[in-house]
Amino acid sequence: MNRKKRISLLSAGIWYSFFLIVAGFLSGQAVDGNYDLLRERMVERQIVARGVQDTSVLAAMKSVPRHLFVPEDLRSAAYSDRPLPIGYGQTISQPYIVAYMTELLEVNPEHKVLEIGTGSGYQAAVLSRLAREVYTIEIIPELGNAAAERLRELGYDNVTVRIGDGYQGWPEEAPFDRIIVTAAPEQIPPKLVEQLKPGGRMVIPTGPQWWGQDLLVVEKREDGSIKTINTIPVRFVPMVKEK
Ligand code: SAH
Repeated sequence: MNRKKRISLLSAGIWYSFFLIVAGFLSGQAVDGNYDLLRERMVERQIVARGVQDTSVLAAMKSVPRHLFVPEDLRSAAYSDRPLPIGYGQTISQPYIVAYMTELLEVNPEHKVLEIGTGSGYQAAVLSRLAREVYTIEIIPELGNAAAERLRELGYDNVTVRIGDGYQGWPEEAPFDRIIVTAAPEQIPPKLVEQLKPGGRMVIPTGPQWWGQDLLVVEKREDGSIKTINTIPVRFVPMVKEK
């Protein structure tokens, strides 16, 4: 091969690599842009349309990249109006339910929040945009560890994940201003009520396993007495008891 030919081949090669890099970059951008659009639409059509109004909750739902909390092969379905499997027989809740429960919780930037049932970490990420600190407990180590890693990588650094049994709560960090339970026990766990601050509130689905449950708001008054408000029927995975 003569020198001229070699140089022209080399420069074609360089141009081709450059083209691949630019094309790769642009398609990555397009995909991300697409997810942003899908997320906007999810908030408008599934959440605002069903009556969630709290602007800070809507902003949090618009900011958290839900597609990064579902298994890779389900990313294209991340913004659809349903729960999705996240492995180990567990699910990430439907976007509307996440928003509705978050609105019911009435979180403010001073609050210390406890979540039971970390799962993918998505609900914890949404809460982290609204609260001072989020503590979240997951009973399946593989899910809890993956969620902790994901939350760290995405920079949600006011969230702390613990592997453990949610029925015990997190006594070392109690009391909590807010508690949200994202798996369903048959009855309200007494230790969670104990770890709620007076004036605090808890949102929790309660009822028979594998059947429908009621989504309850539990308020602890300043005098320590409890008021329970029944909201909507829901269906959550069971909150399991350690054997
Ligand atoms: N909030 C999650 C979805 C929760 S699915 C998200 O945003 O993705 C319910 C989770 O509760 C499951 O991961 C399940 O393993 C966990 N779980 C069930 N029983 C539990 C218990 N006793 N203590 C802690 N976590 C529990």
